[in-house]
Amino acid sequence: MQHFSIAAIPGDGIGPEVMAEGLKTLKKIEELHGGIHFSIDTFDWNCEYYVKHGKMMPDNGLEILRDYDVILLGAIGAPTVPDHISVWELILPIRRAFQQYINLRPIKLLRGLESPLRYKAHKDLDFIVVRENTEGEYSNMGGRLHENTPFELAVQNNVFTRYGTERVINYAYSLAEKRTGRRLTAATKSNGINHSMPFWDEIVKEVSKQHPNIQTDIYHIDALAAYFITRPEELDVVVASNLFGDILTDLGAAIVGGLGLAPSGNINPEKNYPSMFEPIHGSAPDIAGKQIANPIAQIWSISLMMEHLGFSDIADLIVSSIEEVLIDRKVSTPDLGGKNSTREFGEAIHQQMTKKS
Ligand code: ATP
Ligand code: MG
Repeated sequence: MQHFSIAAIPGDGIGPEVMAEGLKTLKKIEELHGGIHFSIDTFDWNCEYYVKHGKMMPDNGLEILRDYDVILLGAIGAPTVPDHISVWELILPIRRAFQQYINLRPIKLLRGLESPLRYKAHKDLDFIVVRENTEGEYSNMGGRLHENTPFELAVQNNVFTRYGTERVINYAYSLAEKRTGRRLTAATKSNGINHSMPFWDEIVKEVSKQHPNIQTDIYHIDALAAYFITRPEELDVVVASNLFGDILTDLGAAIVGGLGLAPSGNINPEKNYPSMFEPIHGSAPDIAGKQIANPIAQIWSISLMMEHLGFSDIADLIVSSIEEVLIDRKVSTPDLGGKNSTREFGEAIHQQMTKKS
């Protein structure tokens, strides 16, 4: 029997609703596999906790999380707490403390879904974005000067370390080596950002020399965003800085069916700290509490988690079960044109998992 400890943070808004389905996915995996046991602890660290305690998690929150194998997150954020607090005091400290320097976001059009790019087939939309997750444009360095004068200004520094850049590019290449596309596309903007981006490009070129069998392209972010729409079939592994990756992956989610479907992993490749898996979407206050959120992003995030733990067969089973339900078209949430609840959609996926194994 293999044991894995999981810290579940359902969070705010639709977070707890989609997390409830994710936890059922874990139960289903235990039931079907027989050799896996999850011990799950749930933490109520969210915006309500903040309103009560003046912080998003206890002072020793990171120490508590450190001993888990993985962290599973629903969504964080509520209208009562400014976003910069909920993100800066919970999600970013976790990503940084546990060296989750890779943000992995598959852009794959599932069977049974149609892309808004209607002329594109499923095989054309199957790539993965590797986003740098700890530095770059989201550096927290900078400041404001001369407030209330005509010379008022704000400065935000970009921080690209050689260490941080090399490790994300190395990871992207190692992923490209495992995939069949044999292609790596790096996002840049060295024509406009003239210090950090040429540095990034140089490191891409250096690392590319160790991977002569992988085709390397370096595209400016503006052109690359257009290629996501016009030539997605040419993409296999896309590697991007923190900000560029953030923008590209929301675009990526849009071309494969929307936010309710998009999973992500915050990966610590060395596995010396827990990695964290979460839907890309936020807490969606507009639809919270109505049982209409799509649970696929959360359930697919568990597939990424199983891949990370070394169970590719289970990871594939989860994705193909989601696809069966989508192809079947009998059960789906309103974002996909259906009338079913979050619970019913989750249940249909879990039934398929039983059927297919
Ligand atoms: P955040 O700032 O936390 O990213 P946000 O306001 O930018 O939040 P999201 O919460 O990610 O945005 O969601 C944007 C919109 O997409 C929501 O208002 C909701 O209508 C829709 N949406 C997001 N996630 C889902 C989901 N799982 N199922 C259905 N619709 C969703
Ligand atoms: Mg958002």
